[in-house]
Amino acid sequence: MDLILESALAQFHHGADHVKLPDLYRKLLTSFKTTFQAEFPVEMDDGSVHIFEGFRVIHNNARGPTKGGLRFTDRVSLDEMRALAMLMTWKCAVVNIPFGGAKGGVRVDPTSLSADELQNLTRRFTSELLPIIGPDQDIPAPDMGTNAQIMAWVMDTYSMAKGYTIPAVVTGKPVAIGGSEGRYEATGRGLLYVLEEHLASSGGLPGRTVAVQGFGNVGGVTAKLMQQAGAHVVYVSDKDTALHHPDGIDTASAWAHVEDGGSLRSWLDQHPGMAEPVAPEDVLTAEVDVLVPAAVEAVLTADNADAVRARLILEGANGPTTTDADAMLAERGVPVIPDILANAGGVTVSYFEWVQARQNMQWTEDQVNAELRRVMVGAYRNVVARCLVGAEGECTQREAALWLAIERVVRAIELRGIYP
Ligand code: NAD
Repeated sequence: MDLILESALAQFHHGADHVKLPDLYRKLLTSFKTTFQAEFPVEMDDGSVHIFEGFRVIHNNARGPTKGGLRFTDRVSLDEMRALAMLMTWKCAVVNIPFGGAKGGVRVDPTSLSADELQNLTRRFTSELLPIIGPDQDIPAPDMGTNAQIMAWVMDTYSMAKGYTIPAVVTGKPVAIGGSEGRYEATGRGLLYVLEEHLASSGGLPGRTVAVQGFGNVGGVTAKLMQQAGAHVVYVSDKDTALHHPDGIDTASAWAHVEDGGSLRSWLDQHPGMAEPVAPEDVLTAEVDVLVPAAVEAVLTADNADAVRARLILEGANGPTTTDADAMLAERGVPVIPDILANAGGVTVSYFEWVQARQNMQWTEDQVNAELRRVMVGAYRNVVARCLVGAEGECTQREAALWLAIERVVRAIELRGIYP
């Protein structure tokens, strides 16, 4: 079993122990409703045919149709899909949106494909998924290696097969074909709203120092929005470059440059003196008020957790903190706002996109952001309140978020019963 699934299951059992979950529900929640695996051919530009392997795992749909990303990476495995599908079940339950959890992917390095090959692969895999996905069944979204264009191809392929346009089959589409205003920035904005709520009783965000690891959709947007909200973003990094400025980096300028196809390195080349290059590990060990790991999983480990000097960790990436590191940070009293709460802004606005598609409505960006704030602040308060029940505050937010999620999913199963 892959480590990622092992730790997802261990985390679940830990939470299940605390809420004294009966064996039946343990069995149900450690099983996966649908596991789909396909090997399928794609004709390449040179006329050769390559066989790709793709997966879609639906963990649990007790609370509604399932929701989860579709990733194209060369590391995709069935265990990874299972672990991430389970994480999506908990994430949707924490923010209390009526979805279950799923995840899918194709084992491919998308940067090795031409645009035509990428489109052919997407359309063929979507055809394979036709019996599983659908606006009332399972609704994919962009994830690592996929984007709004790929969602447009998924939507088009599905619609062609059904004979009419069905925008609600995917989220994260371009706004021009039924995507939602505010979806692109939603994960970063959700992180900001949760952080503002967390700091509300202790002086707020303005003037705080922040370090952000990862400068893509999550990290770049988060860094930009936090600067706009008055924080000093003193460290940022992408996979090649880490930058520091003690007074704060102009992250709006850097993000505009990266969005335009540049990198942090080329931004610095064009803006000499606006930051200094530092070692990548300096970002994770920076003495700042808030550290936002927003790149990849398992970056805070037993090897570096004791060197972390941030006063708070806000998880932008999925699974950036290993179980060992989590225990070490808890022992030292460093609070962690966990991924299933902190980065749920993306799936929340995906839900709004699905609602808009089903109602043939288009909300304004202000409407989307106001609703997002309501959901994220409500979820944060529910998690904090859950910690006070039974644990009298002696728990981490990760534990409380998981207890809340398990209880919500179990309640749905109880109410629905076991069919027949
Ligand atoms: P992305 O591909 O847009 O950006 C990833 C960034 O991380 C890039 O800047 C890359 O250079 C950088 N990076 C990669 N490895 C690094 C390393 N070792 N050190 C420093 N930087 C590194 O991806 P994204 O959409 O921003 O997703 C980032 C994480 O957030 C993933 O774990 C993803 O699952 C999670 N997430 C994304 C969303 C979303 O809406 N995009 C929602 C929830 C969670």
